[in-house]
Amino acid sequence: MYSHIIIHYDEITLKGGNRPFFERALVNNIREFLKEIECGNLYREGGKIIVEIVKDTDLKKIKKILKNIPGISNFYFAVSEKKDLEKINKKTVKLLQDYLKTEDKKTFKIEARRSDKKFELKSPQINAIVGEYVLENTKLTVDVHHPDIEIVVEIGQKNCYVYFEKTSGIGGLPIGTTGKLISLISGGIDSPVASYMMNKRGAKIIFVHFKNKTINDIGNDKIKDLVKKLNRFQGKSKLYIIPFEEFQKEIIANIPSKNRMIVYRRIMFKLAGEIAKKEKAKGFVTGDSLSQVASQTLENINVIYNAANLPIFSPLIGMNKQEIIDISKKINTYDISILPYQDCCSFLIAKHPETKADLKIILKQEKNLKINKIAEKIIAEIKPEVI
Ligand code: ATP
Ligand code: MG
Repeated sequence: MYSHIIIHYDEITLKGGNRPFFERALVNNIREFLKEIECGNLYREGGKIIVEIVKDTDLKKIKKILKNIPGISNFYFAVSEKKDLEKINKKTVKLLQDYLKTEDKKTFKIEARRSDKKFELKSPQINAIVGEYVLENTKLTVDVHHPDIEIVVEIGQKNCYVYFEKTSGIGGLPIGTTGKLISLISGGIDSPVASYMMNKRGAKIIFVHFKNKTINDIGNDKIKDLVKKLNRFQGKSKLYIIPFEEFQKEIIANIPSKNRMIVYRRIMFKLAGEIAKKEKAKGFVTGDSLSQVASQTLENINVIYNAANLPIFSPLIGMNKQEIIDISKKINTYDISILPYQDCCSFLIAKHPETKADLKIILKQEKNLKINKIAEKIIAEIKPEVI
C-alpha cells in the first residue's frame, strides 16, 4: 500500500546557507545505510528526503535502520496520489481502513500542507473536504486538539502525499558533518554511551582501546561487540586495539600506586594523540562523569586532560550513573557492557588512589618512565580493524 517514506530532518533546518551541505551528507548516509535494502529512488524534495518503496521493500527492516541514523527527526510511511481531491479522498480512506484493521484509534484530524502555493484550494478548505470524506467513510470522529491520528495531506510540486504513521528518529546532525573524533572505549558502560552522544552531534568516531595482552582474549570480542552495536549509528567503524602491557610494567616500576591510574590515563591520551594525527581527528571522546570514580575528581581530570594535545569531549560529565545506564539500555550496549571483563585499568587500581593529583609531582614522576621507544614502535606498527 505504501509507496514512499517521507523523512524529516532535525537541526539541519537551522543551518541557513550551509543547509545543502548537511542535506547532502544526510542523503549520502541514508543511501549507504540502505545499500542492502531493496528500495527505489532516494532524493531531496521541498525540505524533506523521500525514499521510494518498491514491491520487495522490507518496511520493518527499513524502520529499524532509519530510527538510528543521526540527523533524522522523524519519518512516515506515505502514499502518493495525483493532486486531485477526489482521488486523494479515496486513497486516504483506503489507507485508514487498512491501518484500522490492526490499530484501535478513534479520532482524527486532517493537517493539510501546501508546498505548491499555486494549488487552487487553501489548507483549511483541503482540511474540510478530506475531513468530511473520512468522517463519512470510516468510524473515526474528529478531534482537532488531541487526535489519535493526525493525517497529513501534503500538496507537493509534482503530486500529493498522505501520511500519518510516524516514527521518531534520534535527531541531531548527519555523521561526518562535524569531523572525526577519537573515542577512548573501555568496555564499561560509560564510554559507548559517550560515543553515541557524539555520533548524534555529527562526529564520525574512531575507536581506541587499550588492552593488556596477558589477559585472555575474550575481551577483544567484547569491545568489538560494543563497536558493532554502535555501527547502527555511524556505519562501519575503525577500531585500534593498543597493547598496554609494556607501559603497565613501566608504570608499576616507577609510579607510586596511588598515582598509577592518573599516569596511565595520561599515557592513553598521548598515544591516542598519535592515532588522531594518523586519522586527522580533531578531538577525543571519553566516558568521564565528574567525580564518579577517583580518576574523575576535578583535580585529577585537570591533571589527566593536561596530557592531551587536542580538546577532550566528555558528554557524560554532568550526568548521573543511572541516567547513563538508561541511555546504554536504550542503545542496547548495556548487556554487553556489564559482561565481566578485566581491562588494564583493573590492574592499576590502588587501594587508596590519589583524588587530588598535583601536576608538578606527576610530571616529575613521569620523568623516570622509558616509554617513548615502546610508544613509537607500537604506533608505527598498529593497524586498525574495520568492524
Ligand atoms: P567506563 O564505564 O566507560 O569504563 P568508568 O566509569 O569505568 O567508564 P574509568 O575506568 O575511570 O571510568 O575510565 C574513564 C574513561 O577513560 C572511560 O570512559 C574511557 O573513555 C577511558 N578509558 C578507561 N579505560 C580505558 C581503556 N582500557 N581503553 C580506552 N579507554 C579507556
Ligand atoms: Mg572503565
